[in-house]
Amino acid sequence: MTYITRKDAMELSAQQKAAVEHTGGPALVVAGAGSGKTRTLTAKIDYLIQKGYDPERILAITFTNKAADEMKRRLADLTGLSRFRFPWVRTYHSACFRILKRHCEVLGYTVPLQIYSGYQQQKLFKEIVVGAGFDKKHVMPLLSRISHAKNSGNPDGYFDSRRRSFRLPVRSLYTAYEKALREANAVDFDNILLLTRNLLRDHDEIRREYQALFQYILVDEYQDSNDLQEELTRLFLKNGNLFCVGDDWQAIYGFRGSNVNHFLSFPETYAGARIFRLEQNYRSVDEIVQAANDLIGYNKQRMEKQCFSKKRGGLVELHDFYDEGQEAAWVRRKVQALRKTGIPYHQMAVLYRTKFCSLSFEKIFRASRIPYQMMGAKGFFERKEILDINCYLTAAVFPKDDVAFERIVNTPKRGIGPGMLKKINQVRTEEMSLQDAARKVVAERVMSPKIHKALSTLLGHLDEIRDMAPATAVHAVLSRFDYLEHLKEYTKGNAMDYIAREENIKQLIYSAGQHTHLVDYLQEASLVNEDREEDENERDLGVKLSTIHASKGLEYGVVFIVGCEENLFPHWKSLESPEGVQEERRLMYVAMTRAERFLYLTSAEYRRGQSNARSRFCEEVEDALG
Ligand code: ATP
Ligand code: MG
Repeated sequence: MTYITRKDAMELSAQQKAAVEHTGGPALVVAGAGSGKTRTLTAKIDYLIQKGYDPERILAITFTNKAADEMKRRLADLTGLSRFRFPWVRTYHSACFRILKRHCEVLGYTVPLQIYSGYQQQKLFKEIVVGAGFDKKHVMPLLSRISHAKNSGNPDGYFDSRRRSFRLPVRSLYTAYEKALREANAVDFDNILLLTRNLLRDHDEIRREYQALFQYILVDEYQDSNDLQEELTRLFLKNGNLFCVGDDWQAIYGFRGSNVNHFLSFPETYAGARIFRLEQNYRSVDEIVQAANDLIGYNKQRMEKQCFSKKRGGLVELHDFYDEGQEAAWVRRKVQALRKTGIPYHQMAVLYRTKFCSLSFEKIFRASRIPYQMMGAKGFFERKEILDINCYLTAAVFPKDDVAFERIVNTPKRGIGPGMLKKINQVRTEEMSLQDAARKVVAERVMSPKIHKALSTLLGHLDEIRDMAPATAVHAVLSRFDYLEHLKEYTKGNAMDYIAREENIKQLIYSAGQHTHLVDYLQEASLVNEDREEDENERDLGVKLSTIHASKGLEYGVVFIVGCEENLFPHWKSLESPEGVQEERRLMYVAMTRAERFLYLTSAEYRRGQSNARSRFCEEVEDALG
């Protein structure tokens, strides 16, 4: 059956069409950046539906929630499907959580299962780490090691393979952390994958149910799958209907445990696999494609690919500056000049290897009134006002959650400071939560009348909020606890800051209103938290400031890659191993291939007062430009 393109905007080349129309067995699309992999994958879902596949039995995996939203939007537009009969277009985490929450009782959890992400996860782990006598500066590095261990699919094996001096302390922290999560009836992000794997691996009837459900599985950005994700894919798959797309030149998450070998060994893993290659880049002008090709040519380990573009009329330029101030000033002038030629701000992006580089650009854009938007900045759900409100809701729905209760018990202030909290903790028995203890204190009337009243009012409100619809519940938090008054004090008369936070709360009410039950809303909020993408309502407003990692899969008319200096990019941590430098080079390749027409690489001799040589990547690109 041939694919009927329903929209002009979804025209396909003959090669893309061949990949779309191939069914009945595993297939891999190996292709360079901008060659239409994501577009082909989206079209293929449309094709499968045209062919008669039940939409709800198609599973499409994207790398971020944002990419999932974008693909869903496209698909809705193409197919006109209602959201009730829609394919599963989700990240691994989101797809797995949907499964896990349904079957968590099999694994000894109770419904509703809670997700600890960001703030809650770190708070819980920090207590364990500090309690075991370690400095709190170790919290984040240790958490990332534990995450690595879990994503290997075999945490014990991972620890066994480490040095004794590492293994012993980390394993005991890991064990304590897992126990604490269990007790809270909560999972962290990695557990969502790990437990779903266990569920499918160890329970034949559950595995069979999902294998029968998913008739086609599609995976975007396949080169960055990790071992656990690959195992999950195999557990889901029954009839070999697997379609993966990727580009080994863009594998940039090795540092987080992604394993490009799954991509490279696809033909061996999946017998009879068809390999499709796409060579034409539809995103960038040829000047950019060639410069990026030459750069990646310095990497030894890579599959051969031919990439070209028929688009012309862009440019690649390198500029060196004295310090980061001059670099930022030049970028600002260039942005303003390009704007005058008719390129809108949101078509421009400033990309950097490390977050701190954004600061000089934020400052200068603000001073020059150039609208800009930080991507990968503090996630929406990590902002104070949003965390406060969500912790109120969490404390109402999940009374066992100590982290949430501790956050709200004295915010806004009601006289229950650290000293009082200690006293509450004293009446607490082993299996009691902090909230239970507070209830006990109230029942036994052991506190001063003032504290008694404050606590019993708080608990009473939480009880009432528990059964409210999400948006009503947010309103109740605001009014019953005088939250906006608290926010006014907190922002200390800074009206702009206050208004911005109030806007965030409006956004929160809107997204809460999308759900019927508080539990669903809170679970969803924790799931999307991980992406740390920009807010929906800020989209397209200004020049994008983004790390390169967060720019994956996206495209912009104009791209500035700033901070191209040795030790910064390639990052000093990568310099110890050839593989490290190769991953950095792939990151540079990703950055360059985001640009459609204009690409600028800039470096500063002095940054934060330190002098660094110009990046080797600049030299490599410069050689190519001749
Ligand atoms: P990346 O490797 O960066 O993820 P990709 O291979 O997924 O890139 P897409 O994002 O799907 O590429 O496509 C890149 C751009 O080219 C998009 O703007 C897309 O709409 C456009 N494009 C893809 N295929 C075609 C085509 N056949 N004709 C015209 N434009 C196309
Ligand atoms: Mg893509």
